[in-house]
Amino acid sequence: MTFNTLGLAAPLLHAVAEAGYTEPTAIQAAAIPAALRGDDVLGAAQTGSGKTAAFVLPMLHALLARRHSRAPAVHGLILAPTRELAAQVGEAIRALARHLPVQVKVVTVFGGVSVNPQMMALRGGADIVVATPGRLLDLVDHNAVKLDKVATLVLDEADRLLDMGFAGEVQRILSMLPAQRQSLFFSATFPPAVQALAQGMLRNPVRAEV
Ligand code: AMP
Repeated sequence: MTFNTLGLAAPLLHAVAEAGYTEPTAIQAAAIPAALRGDDVLGAAQTGSGKTAAFVLPMLHALLARRHSRAPAVHGLILAPTRELAAQVGEAIRALARHLPVQVKVVTVFGGVSVNPQMMALRGGADIVVATPGRLLDLVDHNAVKLDKVATLVLDEADRLLDMGFAGEVQRILSMLPAQRQSLFFSATFPPAVQALAQGMLRNPVRAEV
């Protein structure tokens, strides 16, 4: 299996090659074609599985494909449980977007630091927002970001999002998103609360298990 058969745009394959990825990991081989078709994905994957690129590459592909038709707005939203993970995902997006012929604006927001620089960054416009849930809601409540144009939502490490007590925040964020959207759900474990969350937000998901 090679990356070339997955259906990704050439500038993304260029970035993948530069990152030194020679073949897709199992989660990437399962999730990328489904996500590119527009399907929802239920991914069972641990850290280290390559799950980040499994959702970042299709999201960037979709941004590129829609570049002529989309108005400036947040089209991709990724929720992560910790600032470390959010920062890591933001960096992965920047690296994989490096060769795209369009500029992709990625803004990463998380709690525990001053909100003002994040508000300024959002004011400059964002195509993709990577966020921890509490801080994202603060920013929404301050009218610093609107989520009504989100086309793809990713929950990264959904089990940890719930373990950290973010269930209420995640539900509130879900209620702000367009009903017509793609959702990609990744978790290492699937206790009942995680299954219930997945069931509530996914439509006929393709299961990608590692
Ligand atoms: P993740 O599980 O997304 O945190 O990724 C774990 C590590 O694997 C990261 O350092 C990635 O850069 C790397 N990685 C992701 N996809 C591949 C791949 N297809 N081949 C080799 N390394 C990869």
